[in-house]
Amino acid sequence: MTSSPLTKPPIDKKALLARYIAERDKRLRPDGNAQYLQLTGRFADYLDDPYTPVVARAPKTDHVAFAFVGGGFAGLVTCARLVEAGVRDVRIIEKGGDFGGTWYWNRYPGAQCDTASMVYMPLLEETGHVPTEKYAHAPEILAQCRRIGEKYGLYDNALFHTEVKSLTWDAAGSRWIIETSRGDRFTADFIGLGTGPLHVPKLPGIPGIETFAGKAFHTSRWDYGYTGGDPKGAPLDNLADKRVAIIGTGATAVQVVPHLAGACKQLYVVQRTPSSVDVRANAPLDPAWFAEVATPGWQQRWLENFTDNQAGGNAKEDLVQDGWTDLARRIREKIVTLPPAERTPANMLAAYEDADFEKMEEIRARAEAVVKDKETAQKLKAWYRQLCKRPCFHDEYLQSFNKPGVALIDTDGKGVERITGNGFVVAGHEYEVDCIIYASGFEVGTEYKRRAGFDLVGRNGRKLSEAWAEGMQSLHGIHVHDFPNAFFVQPTQGANLISNIPHNLTEAGRTIAQIIAHARQTGAKEVEVSRQAQDAWVALLLKGMGRMIGSPDCTPGYYNNEGQDPGPAARLNMGYPAGASAYFKYLAGWRESGRYEGLAFR
Ligand code: NDP
Repeated sequence: MTSSPLTKPPIDKKALLARYIAERDKRLRPDGNAQYLQLTGRFADYLDDPYTPVVARAPKTDHVAFAFVGGGFAGLVTCARLVEAGVRDVRIIEKGGDFGGTWYWNRYPGAQCDTASMVYMPLLEETGHVPTEKYAHAPEILAQCRRIGEKYGLYDNALFHTEVKSLTWDAAGSRWIIETSRGDRFTADFIGLGTGPLHVPKLPGIPGIETFAGKAFHTSRWDYGYTGGDPKGAPLDNLADKRVAIIGTGATAVQVVPHLAGACKQLYVVQRTPSSVDVRANAPLDPAWFAEVATPGWQQRWLENFTDNQAGGNAKEDLVQDGWTDLARRIREKIVTLPPAERTPANMLAAYEDADFEKMEEIRARAEAVVKDKETAQKLKAWYRQLCKRPCFHDEYLQSFNKPGVALIDTDGKGVERITGNGFVVAGHEYEVDCIIYASGFEVGTEYKRRAGFDLVGRNGRKLSEAWAEGMQSLHGIHVHDFPNAFFVQPTQGANLISNIPHNLTEAGRTIAQIIAHARQTGAKEVEVSRQAQDAWVALLLKGMGRMIGSPDCTPGYYNNEGQDPGPAARLNMGYPAGASAYFKYLAGWRESGRYEGLAFR
């Protein structure tokens, strides 16, 4: 699977790079992240929870051992490990009506994981769930979140439809005070934060957006009442007489469009930048095969193998075999042909570039091979490196453009000109529609406080926004000096493994559970990273090559701060220099040593 008959050597790399830069320049705009709208005011109802009614309850004023902000994978895996370690008094606070986080909100038709279920779905071995497909669909992933919640008793004490408003360190009591949108004011010995990187929906700031008189919603709040169908894939019957526009062609739209195509009277797919859409090759998982593979410890082996294959490891086999491991395999194959003395950083980078040029040529050739209309096929070609934007994998997206009633409206990098009462305008032409679906993504480049909805107030009243004013500072991406007994569960300054976010979270969760159990066993009331250990960790990170994704010559997007210089602070949004594999091994060693170097237990 390393090369395809579609490859057309030789590749004119200079010409390609010039094209990449020309396409990027077309899309650069001075307003960067400011081009997007928050869903407030006129758009606030786009944020309502369409799935679960809010249940009245009395405010909480009690005390818990551990409170976690966010009921997605981060909270679930951390609390599951805590319960296993004997800490049962845990409370998850979640703004949605159930566990699931991103999988609670994103129920749009076609939603499924882009990373293989065997490594993407957490705690499969612990819960005994056998994934039904190589890439599970959203309802199965949401069910797995609920299964984890039930198995570990996390529902008993959870607060749903509740947003944390403040988290304040109470030095006298060595505990945190938590206040919420539901009038709660309770305390916790320890807190965890897993609010997720992509949970605040954004809209494109298109002039006139508030004037549209038809139906409009964001993909993360899909209105099945309007469209018909359901998250399991039932046809969107109510759209048969509707003209629909979907704005945006990122990873979400790539999954939605095949369900809209054919269901609507007319579908306009409005594109500013094409996604790279590689082969998906989803298939049911054979339970007999699974039974053979799933010997004790299987999921950890698969996780490590997936990471080893593409993030600095030295895997001898590729268990997952997909688009994520393919690029890495190509790079490795180029590097092993070099004599050891020539395996320099510059040659490594060259191997990466060569592999990437080849891969992207294949992906562009695929668009041409699949899409019948030649002009549409050309417009669907992505002119950038694969990791400039989130890589997509799908076997029906490109095919959708061969269906009657489906039109690609390419804006040549400019975006929609205007929204009117009746529809949208591109290149001076107004397209009348009944419904506009915004597949316009989520806030990424905005500051933590804005995305989380609160600012942590730590020791001596120090705010997290102050501590991170010049960029994130942490040990392992988990501990922050001046914020005792608080643990962050997220990838940055840790493994920073973007191809499988849950792996970052499960390792952090395991580590935190062990630290808290240790504190309780030894009678320590406070756990805090020393300033020195934090500084040393950040200095180590800065010795690395920096981020491999989102380089300045990339087309704008959230991987590169919309093409704007993100300032020196963003330099710190990186991972362990030796790669994700090495980080996980390092962290396991750090944890298992029992010394917890850098942390003070008081
Ligand atoms: P994205 O931010 O990736 O995409 C937003 C889209 O809206 C882009 O195509 C963007 O164009 C377009 N857009 C923005 N402004 C305008 C405008 N003015 N006119 C026209 N188009 C516009 O959001 P997604 O929801 O698709 O994906 C977000 C992330 O969520 C993914 O990157 C991925 O990490 C995750 N995800 C994961 C999935 C999975 O694992 N299964 C599935 C779906 C999402 P442009 O590219 O030019 O900015």
